[in-house]
Amino acid sequence: MIPPERYAERLAGLAAAARSGGVDAVLVGVGPDLEYLTGYRAMPLERLTMLVVTPGSAPVLVVPRLERAAAEVEVRTDVTIDTWDETDDPYALALRDVAAGPNEALHLAVSDRLWASHLLRLQATRPAARFVPASTVLRGLRMIKDADEIELLRRAAHAADRVVGQIAAGRLVGRTEADVAREVRERLVAEGHEEAHFAIVGSGPNSASPHHDASDRVIQPGEPVVLDIGGTIEGYGSDITRTLWVTGGDPANGPDEEFRRLFELVREAQAEASAAARPGMPAERVDRVARGIIEAGGYGAQFIHRLGHGIGLEGHEEPYLVAGNDEPLAAGHAFSIEPGIYLEGRYGARIEDIVVCGRDGPTVLNRAARDLYVVDG
Ligand code: ZN
Ligand code: ZN
Ligand code: ZN
Repeated sequence: MIPPERYAERLAGLAAAARSGGVDAVLVGVGPDLEYLTGYRAMPLERLTMLVVTPGSAPVLVVPRLERAAAEVEVRTDVTIDTWDETDDPYALALRDVAAGPNEALHLAVSDRLWASHLLRLQATRPAARFVPASTVLRGLRMIKDADEIELLRRAAHAADRVVGQIAAGRLVGRTEADVAREVRERLVAEGHEEAHFAIVGSGPNSASPHHDASDRVIQPGEPVVLDIGGTIEGYGSDITRTLWVTGGDPANGPDEEFRRLFELVREAQAEASAAARPGMPAERVDRVARGIIEAGGYGAQFIHRLGHGIGLEGHEEPYLVAGNDEPLAAGHAFSIEPGIYLEGRYGARIEDIVVCGRDGPTVLNRAARDLYVVDG
């Protein structure tokens, strides 16, 4: 549970970042930024709901009249709630008290997930203003997870760990990927997630497609199954990948030599990169650690995606562990470490954990074993 005073700190931090960034107002629509700043998880609608944060005055939340009661219950900090009626212009209301600093054109930051329909109306309301994404002033705050956020990420990770164990212990052969995915979703909720967000079940050749969803393909003995699953607890995500090999009970159906070799490279790359992350290290360097190992093993061209992504109120957020991102890691950054090797049309393997960069080094939140799960089922 995020304590209420944390939201006030975040709002004050954003106001300070806006001031130093020369931003006259941060306009936050429905989405993860609004949830981060107020605790309010509103429904995204064509009617405007907008938090207005300025350097100089108290934050105001503009909501349609029919959402007021919900907002009063859900907003977990002290903000003024301003309502608009069906025939009012909510964009004019949101911008009513927003003024440019001395000698400057108005400089407005809008939340990155704001719908274009809302942004276009804001732009029409203040045609001379300059608009930038709110992440320019908010990213620094959102990237650094506090102890309560890390605790939620940990709870989500442990819940997902348990689901991996349950699926690996159950029956897989003869079932469709979609059927297993349904079970994964049910178990994610049963283990404490408020929602299951995704359940990738890639069997046989589908394991070579990193974002394969789950199809009607029937799982066969003698092939791998990549499970990549996650959901949320109080808005914070889990995201774990483990690779299984199903034998159907016949040891002759075990993994072949090439699969064992590529899995071992993935395992080593994942372990070394997870151990490497520390404050000050450029994000791309962690990717390099993993990629170097996989390249040396001869599969560099088959590791076709970045090493990892930040995680928090969004399943994919900053920082991204990818070549070209020289942003230094900092204590409180939380991200996935998920190298994979994919032989198109044949098979693939991936291992993914959520890692938090601490002052003295990394903490891996997931506890599920990272070996190849060779299972009878
Ligand atoms: Zn992914
Ligand atoms: Zn994943
Ligand atoms: Zn991921």
